[in-house]
Amino acid sequence: MNLAEWLVRSARNAPDAPALISGNEQIATYGEFAAKAAGFAGALRDCFNVAPGDRIAIFAANTVQYLVAMYGAWFAGAVIVPVNAKLHPREAGWIIEDSQAVLALITDKPGAALAGMLPESCGHLIDLQSPEFETLCAHTPLPAPVSRLQSDMAWLFYTSGTTGRPKGVMMTHGNIHAMAFAYFVDVDQVYETDAAFYAAPMSHGAGLYNVMHVLKAARHVVPASGGFDPAEIFEHGRATGSLHMFAAPTMIRRLVDHARASGETGEGIRTIVYGGGPMYLADIIEAVDVLGPRFVQIYGQGESPMCITALSREAVCDRDHPRWKERLASVGRAQSCVEVAIAAEDGALLPAGQSGEIIVRGAPVMAGYWNNEKATAETIRDGWLWTGDMGVLDEDGYLTLKDRSKDVIISGGTNIYPREVEEVLLVHPAVHEVSVIGVPDVEWGESVCAFVVLASGEKADAAALGRHCTEHIARFKRPKSYRFVDSLPKNNYGKVLKTELRKIAEQTGENP
Ligand code: AMP
Repeated sequence: MNLAEWLVRSARNAPDAPALISGNEQIATYGEFAAKAAGFAGALRDCFNVAPGDRIAIFAANTVQYLVAMYGAWFAGAVIVPVNAKLHPREAGWIIEDSQAVLALITDKPGAALAGMLPESCGHLIDLQSPEFETLCAHTPLPAPVSRLQSDMAWLFYTSGTTGRPKGVMMTHGNIHAMAFAYFVDVDQVYETDAAFYAAPMSHGAGLYNVMHVLKAARHVVPASGGFDPAEIFEHGRATGSLHMFAAPTMIRRLVDHARASGETGEGIRTIVYGGGPMYLADIIEAVDVLGPRFVQIYGQGESPMCITALSREAVCDRDHPRWKERLASVGRAQSCVEVAIAAEDGALLPAGQSGEIIVRGAPVMAGYWNNEKATAETIRDGWLWTGDMGVLDEDGYLTLKDRSKDVIISGGTNIYPREVEEVLLVHPAVHEVSVIGVPDVEWGESVCAFVVLASGEKADAAALGRHCTEHIARFKRPKSYRFVDSLPKNNYGKVLKTELRKIAEQTGENP
């Protein structure tokens, strides 16, 4: 079934329900949203010869027209290729070429820079915020969404590509349906009175999460800033009400800092789904203390979109269970539509309590990588997706991540998980943010290096942090070197870029 059917149904069931809101301004009801998407689909077919299965790139900032474009493309049976708006136009151009997209939809920033750089396969550049786009949306509409099977591709998602070129993950209509159904079962309910709030990039998880809100005819709010601004989020919570949003853990840290400084309580924010990177125990405990029971965690990856495990709202708030801290430091339990297991390198499944690579099987798992059979065969084996993440399951099915295999530090032949060291440093009152990497060490192979952002007005030196570490973890795990920095490099999803930290460490030598 074509995902655009969900929009058609909501338009039929609730034509006057507010659908698209830009800042504080209503741009379209569900009836109007569906009409625009059907019109754009008609234009794609009639004016640009777009055929089912063709790819359409979107290199745009967050805007409500992103959703019109997405559903218009699906309506026409096309595949969307949302490109991270922070990429260099040359990198975006590479993705457009690799996906053989026939059309690129942009906003002025970052998209205008693509002009003159488009590959031959891509003949047109259309600004989503231009009168041209509005005219195309008013074209003779397609009468109904083009028929699509569960196995047909809907979204070609390019991975962040920290090693080599990014790979295109082929997400099908069926994968995204599965993600949406599991959301209702394992993450949260959605009602017509709710509002999906886009504070994180729509090219990624926040954008994927629109579909549950379309199905339930809820509102979609793109804030005036187009991104993450704590003051704006709290204001919308009060004014718009019933917000649902996806946020990276680093964004929650900033929300909590803002709430502490301003006295905000999070009124009107119903659910903050967090994931995409490690949430530290100290941070989530503080977040619940300050903002209350508004949080649900998910663990997923492009290859099984937003859909591997979930840690429920109840589990995030529970402080009575004897192992509540372990649970809170975990990523929760398998979502309903997947099996999650831990495997040894040879593929043998490991029992509870043993660490290995996390593998996943089920309906949301991607169809494979675009034009890359080799990488597909390496990643999906006997139907199991090998995530590249290391982890351990407990007897109750809670999964704890142990960093990506490539981030594990091997010092003197022993594995050190950066996350464990980070968790300890973060409970030191002077530490605001921290990220730990391995750096080459002649004696030990690798040693632990901590990049630390101190809390404002606080002081701590390497000796004080070293003492703190030895009070909590084995001596060999404590950082051998510290870098005190003003901020950590992050991508626009708020993920700390350890590759950048490694480069900094390499360029500045071991003891700057
Ligand atoms: P991406 O495919 O860009 O969404 O990145 C997915 C990766 O982010 C996963 O393979 C994990 O390494 C990491 N990740 C996702 N969710 C979580 C989470 N809840 N906690 C820790 N790491 C996460």
